[in-house]
Amino acid sequence: MAEQKGIPTGSQIEVVSPATRERLGEVAVDSPAEVKAAVARARQASRIWAATPLSTRAKVLRLAGDSIFDHREELVELLSRENGKPRMEALTELAYVGDMLAFYGRRGKRFLDPHRITPHMMLNKRVTIHYQPRGVIGFITPWNFPLILTVGEAIPALVAGNAVVIKPSEWTPLIARRGVELLRESLAAHGVPVDIIQVVNGYGETGAALVDEVDMISFTGSTATGRRVAMRAAERLIPCSLELGGKDPMIVLRDADLERAANAAVWGAFTNSGQVCISVERVYVDATVADRFTDLVVARTRELRQGFDGDEADSDRRVDVGAMTWPRQIETVTAHVDDAREKGAAILTGGRLNPALPGNFYEPTVLAGVDHSMRIMTEETFGPVLPIMPVQDEAEALRLANDSRYALNASVWTANRANGERLAANVAAGITCVNDVIVGFAVTDAPSGGLKESGIGKRHGAEGIRRFCNQQVIITDRFGLKRELIWYPYSAGFEKGLARVLSFLYSNRLSRKIRALFG
Ligand code: NAD
Repeated sequence: MAEQKGIPTGSQIEVVSPATRERLGEVAVDSPAEVKAAVARARQASRIWAATPLSTRAKVLRLAGDSIFDHREELVELLSRENGKPRMEALTELAYVGDMLAFYGRRGKRFLDPHRITPHMMLNKRVTIHYQPRGVIGFITPWNFPLILTVGEAIPALVAGNAVVIKPSEWTPLIARRGVELLRESLAAHGVPVDIIQVVNGYGETGAALVDEVDMISFTGSTATGRRVAMRAAERLIPCSLELGGKDPMIVLRDADLERAANAAVWGAFTNSGQVCISVERVYVDATVADRFTDLVVARTRELRQGFDGDEADSDRRVDVGAMTWPRQIETVTAHVDDAREKGAAILTGGRLNPALPGNFYEPTVLAGVDHSMRIMTEETFGPVLPIMPVQDEAEALRLANDSRYALNASVWTANRANGERLAANVAAGITCVNDVIVGFAVTDAPSGGLKESGIGKRHGAEGIRRFCNQQVIITDRFGLKRELIWYPYSAGFEKGLARVLSFLYSNRLSRKIRALFG
């Protein structure tokens, strides 16, 4: 049973399209006992999978990925119907899955092969760092990128030799179920135990049950839920990575290419209906160019086509902005816009549900006259709203950008790249782009994750696969002496000699004397 408002309850989750309002299907809620059984099956399967060479794992997964692309049209349409996003944005979710398979398929071995380090002091030891799979990784995921954050996120964990159990959002369970089904069919055809990848469904209780069973939890979602997940993971002393909310600032300096900046602001704020953790949530623009920038933004925003094109494969009709997925999120967006309006903000365009469309379509909205007394500038809105605030100078922009409990992504806009990079380094954010937006998620070579209340841990790059591994250090003695100097028996002579060596190596007084000797 699904409600369109509030938290749904019941043993079945009925999925209704937020764009067309049609019923798409249902999934059964998994009880804690069923979650436990799924993790037990995953653990069993993980033993065979972990013993399979990494290169074979990567190859089999890449072949399994082919089945995702063989079913491209079906998946794009399902994703578009279930989440409400335009076809183009659904296709980019498939592209991410392909990229994860290609990137970790090719680089996984390099990231996880044992590697030697040369100790700075213990030169008589050979030291190697190894990466072992952790076992079963649980993924708890939100509704805004329901394929990227389920199947896509699981790929590095699988390449690393783990089994995964995914708990997708109760609002978008169908696309994860279908994507995993396709992978499992292909894995079975290659003789791989299919239980290395499973889906369990349900609400918060199912997620909590998963945290209780797995060897590591990877959580993506709100900061409030992330905190609860982290507390339970702490009780169990299992590692957890948390990809949480954001309130990403965009700083537009007076020398910026205003046309590119305005196009970026519009796309960065409204893509996926603004339901992107790294979307542009607030703009600080130099007061001398604020009017021109705002005019460009408003003009571009008014050109956007809103609607549903999920079933338009055979036509040329396309939309730019889709529906909002979670009805409750519309309440948050409305509350933020109302609060801003009551405190004096001007709505330059949008500011309401689209009256011409049947689903959860909130019009792309631009606000001016905003400040930090308003929720729209300080709380995560997670919807298609772009508030623009003029600032006197770079220093004020930086102070306001950093005045947030979040620190996920940010962007700086200027014709002076060196100045842009200098300013970017002072913005509190996991990734700051210069003259670009959101692209950090596509640069999968680089670590991506938040600071402050935006999260703990990184996806992508070497960290993005090593986080799913236990690091093991192997130290081997090189010379085979009968005893090391530090071993028993202790002697006064050795102690005095050691003290002299220590003061030679570490005493500041001695190094001052040496510096004085040599001027
Ligand atoms: P949410 O926190 O409400 O739910 C996320 C998941 O947690 C869902 O699957 C839900 O069923 C589950 N859950 C709820 N209570 C739980 C509990 N007690 N224990 C375990 N699991 C529980 O988030 P949402 O509304 O689905 O997603 C929107 C949020 O996700 C936004 O804040 C957005 O910024 C964030 N997000 C962050 C990133 C990132 O990479 N930083 C990416 C996408 C979305």
